[in-house]
Amino acid sequence: MNYKVKHKNYNYPDVNGFFGEFGGSFVDDNFKPVLKKLEQDFFFAWNDETFLDAWYDLLVEYSGRPTPLYFAKKLTEYYGKGKIYLKREDLNHTGAHKINNVLGQVLLAKKLGRKKIIAETGAGQHGVATATAAALLDMDCEIFMGEKDIHRQHLNVERMKLLGAKVHSVDTGTKTLKDACDAAIEYWLRHPNEVFYCLGSTVGPHPYPMIVRNFQSIIGAEIKKQILEKENKLPDYVLACVGGGSNAMGAFYAFLEDENVKLIALEAAGEGLNSGKTSAALTLGKKMILQGMMQYALQDENGNVAKSYSISAGIDYPGCGPEHCYLKDIGRAQYYAITDNEAVAAFALLSRLEGIIPAIESSHAVAYLEKLMPQTSKDDIIVVNISGRGDKDTERLLQLLT
Ligand SMILES: *Cc1c(COP(=O)(O)O)cnc(C)c1O
Repeated sequence: MNYKVKHKNYNYPDVNGFFGEFGGSFVDDNFKPVLKKLEQDFFFAWNDETFLDAWYDLLVEYSGRPTPLYFAKKLTEYYGKGKIYLKREDLNHTGAHKINNVLGQVLLAKKLGRKKIIAETGAGQHGVATATAAALLDMDCEIFMGEKDIHRQHLNVERMKLLGAKVHSVDTGTKTLKDACDAAIEYWLRHPNEVFYCLGSTVGPHPYPMIVRNFQSIIGAEIKKQILEKENKLPDYVLACVGGGSNAMGAFYAFLEDENVKLIALEAAGEGLNSGKTSAALTLGKKMILQGMMQYALQDENGNVAKSYSISAGIDYPGCGPEHCYLKDIGRAQYYAITDNEAVAAFALLSRLEGIIPAIESSHAVAYLEKLMPQTSKDDIIVVNISGRGDKDTERLLQLLT
């Protein structure tokens, strides 16, 4: 089965890596040839049937794809309006969509003859997925993580170590994700021919947003096939949460040219859009260059990137991937913000009604049903992408729910 999505007219990024005015590759001159080489290597692999077959084989045999498109009967009855389906990315190996991209990138690294995988991680989810793929494919693995995050995410640090990865503590700057990224890139530039940098979301300089989107586009390609089999029509709405943007791009990409499918992404409002404690970059952000790309990002009064906040570590990010910025500007996708409290309520609701504990990230997408469902009719079809499972959040959220 070839899941590659083909479009008639939508052809982004352009040759310079831009989605409209977003994206691109704003990096130092010595970094440019390394990225150019990565772009060529990726295109070569993406057009190689043997490579794609090897990747699909891992997705099926190792990660358990295709993930179910589950008709949520009780959730549908609860709202009494349109039919709600859940795309179960939480059922992937390691519990989230991240493995789709990581298996692709680590397989590419192996094909290129690299010996070592490096990655940055904040909450540790991408680090665990990368360490998993590295163990499977027999690669050395080094994960860069801020010293503060290492203390906050102890269990994930232990998981990475158990999987054979070396966790590199970064004690510069704020000792969190951004500093971990800088340290990983610095290391990569010192060893460009031995090391492969596995990036976890649709962010960073070109070609990363494209690479991650292409590997995640299998989510939407499967949704399309599955919903046509079950309902013999396309969905009216596809919902996904957005941090850097990879699970949402993955779910949306196959539908970009299906004008009647409304694409809605939910970002983290945190404690509220006016609270100063938020991650709502697409609702409140300004255009700026950050992490090698033009994007919408939260700014402070001096025009510097502001500190973001969300109850959910996976979408606590001050910016957003360039393709989402573009889709917002051209109006092809809609972006709304969900507060911590709304997400926590949705976390409890889905657990109670369907016996599915969603990640707190994914709960942001589920929460939007409160606003959307009253506007739907009985024959509308709504697909919610459940990007990951919520075991990791349960202990912390229980304190809020009781
Ligand atoms: C990392 C993560 C996200 C956020 O990342 P995106 O690139 O925006 O998808 C969302 N959900 C889960 C479960 C995650 O682990």
